[in-house]
Amino acid sequence: MVCLRAAVCLVGLVAAVSAKPAVRGRALQQYYTYGSQGDDWTFGECESTIRQSPIDLRSEDVDVPPVGTKFEVVLNYRYANCSEVIISNSGHGVQYDCAELALLPGEEEVGGDGINGTDIAGEMIKQRSPLTAGFGGSYTNETFYRVLQFHFHAPAEHRVDGNQPALELHIVHQASDGSLMVLGIFYDVGREPDAFLQRLIDAGFPPANETMTYTDPLGLSLADEVARFLPTELPGLPLLAYHYKGSLTTPPCSEVVDWYVVRGTLTATRAQLDAFDDVLITEGEGNFRDVVNDQNVQDLYFTTVTTLF
Ligand SMILES: [Zn+2]
Repeated sequence: MVCLRAAVCLVGLVAAVSAKPAVRGRALQQYYTYGSQGDDWTFGECESTIRQSPIDLRSEDVDVPPVGTKFEVVLNYRYANCSEVIISNSGHGVQYDCAELALLPGEEEVGGDGINGTDIAGEMIKQRSPLTAGFGGSYTNETFYRVLQFHFHAPAEHRVDGNQPALELHIVHQASDGSLMVLGIFYDVGREPDAFLQRLIDAGFPPANETMTYTDPLGLSLADEVARFLPTELPGLPLLAYHYKGSLTTPPCSEVVDWYVVRGTLTATRAQLDAFDDVLITEGEGNFRDVVNDQNVQDLYFTTVTTLF
C-alpha cells in the first residue's frame, strides 16, 4: 500500500487490521467519546481482554531482560526533518502528519516505474528514502519502521506506579508488514520549557474537525526531543524504555502495537502544558483511555534505545 497522506494510510491500515470493525475509517471518529474514558467502547477489539492498552507500568511487574536477548538493543532511530506538516484536529486529539511520507522497502513512488528510482518527470526519488523522507523512522532489530504520525494525550494514557503524567506524546511507526510500533514520551510540569512543544504551540492548533498546514524550511524533527533523554555527561549510554505488546488506544483498539514507553519524564512549563490542555481537554474530559487492568504485565520488559546520530 502506498500512501500519499499518512492520515489516509492510517485509516486504511486500521480498517485492515481490525478483526471485526463495527464502524470503519473516518466515520468511527463520530461514534466514540472519552466520556467514560473508554469503558463503553464496543468497537473492533476494544472489548478484548488479551493485550489492550494503555496499562499501568508498575515497577514490580517489569522484568529486566537477560543479557544477549533480543530485548537488549532494539531501537535505533533516525528522525528526519519534515518541512510541510499537516496538523489535524479530529475532535478527540491533534495529530501531526508529514505531507511527504517515507517509503517502506518494497513500496513504489506513485507514478514512478519503481525500477530506476525515477518518477514520471524523471526526478530522482532518493529524497523519499526511509531515513531522510517524512519524519524518518527507526530500525528495530532488522525491521524498518517509518514514522506514520505523532499525536498527544492529556493527561497521559500510560501510568507509572499509579502516577499519571500531564502529557504523553505518541510517535506512531509502521513497518512493511503493517505492524505498528509506538514510542511514548511523558511530560510533566517543570521550570524548563520544551523547545519542541513550543514550536508546535507557535504553529497553532486547528479547530475541531479542521486541518491546517505548517511549513518551515528548516523542518520539524522528533530527533531532538528523543535525544533529551540521553545523558549528556555519559554520551553513548542508551536510554531505557518499557516494552510490551499492546493495542491502539482508540477504537478499533487493534492489538497490533509494540509499545516502547520511555522511562523518565520530560519537563515543560505550566503555560506550555496549559496550551495543550486547552485543545485536548474539552468539557472537562481529557483525551486519554483509562488503564485497562493488568492483563499485559506478564510481558513487560525494560529495553534499551540507542541512536544513529
Ligand atoms: Zn495515542
